[in-house]
Amino acid sequence: MELTNLQLRRFPHPWRAMLAICSDLDETPDRRTYWEIMRFLNTTQTTAMGTGAGLEVGNSIYFNMPNTQFSYWNADPAGREMIQNLIQSGHIDCIHSFGDLAETRADAAKSLDELTHHNCRIKTWIDHAQAPTNFGSDIMQGHGDQPDHDAYHADLSTQYGIRYIWRGRVTSMIGQGTTAHYRDLFQCDHPAYSSRTILKEFTKRTLGTLGYPKYQLNALNDVMIETELRDGRKTYEFLRSNPCWQGVSAATTAEGLASVLTNTFLDNLIRRQGFCILYTHLGKIKDPRLPFTPRTQDALRRLARYVQENQILVTTTSRLLDYVLAIRNISPSIIVSNNKITINLIRRNIPSHHIQSSDISLEGISMDVPANIQVNLLADGKPIAHERQGLRKNSSVVTITIPWSKLQFPDNQKDWS
Ligand SMILES: [Zn+2]
Repeated sequence: MELTNLQLRRFPHPWRAMLAICSDLDETPDRRTYWEIMRFLNTTQTTAMGTGAGLEVGNSIYFNMPNTQFSYWNADPAGREMIQNLIQSGHIDCIHSFGDLAETRADAAKSLDELTHHNCRIKTWIDHAQAPTNFGSDIMQGHGDQPDHDAYHADLSTQYGIRYIWRGRVTSMIGQGTTAHYRDLFQCDHPAYSSRTILKEFTKRTLGTLGYPKYQLNALNDVMIETELRDGRKTYEFLRSNPCWQGVSAATTAEGLASVLTNTFLDNLIRRQGFCILYTHLGKIKDPRLPFTPRTQDALRRLARYVQENQILVTTTSRLLDYVLAIRNISPSIIVSNNKITINLIRRNIPSHHIQSSDISLEGISMDVPANIQVNLLADGKPIAHERQGLRKNSSVVTITIPWSKLQFPDNQKDWS
């Protein structure tokens, strides 16, 4: 193989697609339910729903909410401690606005100060309903980035560390960052309904292509794009997907997840070599004693098999976006000498977004090199631990990879259940 244009692999080795279940916590009744959901998703411990699926799935948190809703400020001390631990472990990775009742900059500052005080860092923001602190001006009716508004907080939130934002945009297409195909959405069992969903997505994408900013992300079918908030700050906006044949607003609950995570969807995601940030609400449940019905449990265990079989890497929204940012901002430079090559992964500073090169994650970065050559791997000139994998019989190619590690779920010794 030629070494002159060495490219990073699209996904961490050995996976062929990447998916994040991106759940808004709306209607989660209490901390026990939240904890049990997270334990089922992220561990193989015994839970109320049987053995956990052992995936890696994040969750979101908001702050000022009516007291019927689980939220940071409504939680008791044990609940707040649970939230802090899950943020520190990376399992709560999204702020879902500051909540319906957060109306001022002071409300936002109070929550951000609390997170900072407890060493809790979150990079991803997701607009919620019609919360005043939302960023989205069109779909989500927010004011969080309007400097003359009481709810302005974009300066505080970006300084705190918010790097990625979601402003209400959802697509039906299977696989982002790739060429999507409408035929993936057609359902023989439901020809009329699924055609309607296809037509809706087609309309959005056409309007996006014609220059309507509201549908620009749909038109591009990209995972995330650079964008500017109304106060001039630069950030990254991402697109979520719900490939349900009934449309983007259907089946976005714990029960609905079973209808979305089908073999057909997962196989299409692999075939398209796509990224997917799946839009759902896992706290919308019927029975708090058994948050996931057997159908949903089966769907999640099915997904876990795709991970184990090296097909789909399932991770949190923030980690997926960090990986996308990394492959876009790392360039490998190559020096060949005799039978040895040195690959230096050069990470770019992104000053417009206040991202230092050292903040760009190297986890999972993988590349194919000739099997008969010794490789010395550096990142910004310094040696970095890596593995040589995927040596296939009679193949002239081997994969060099910086290992992708799984997040460590907080221990179960505490009284959060
Ligand atoms: Zn919400």
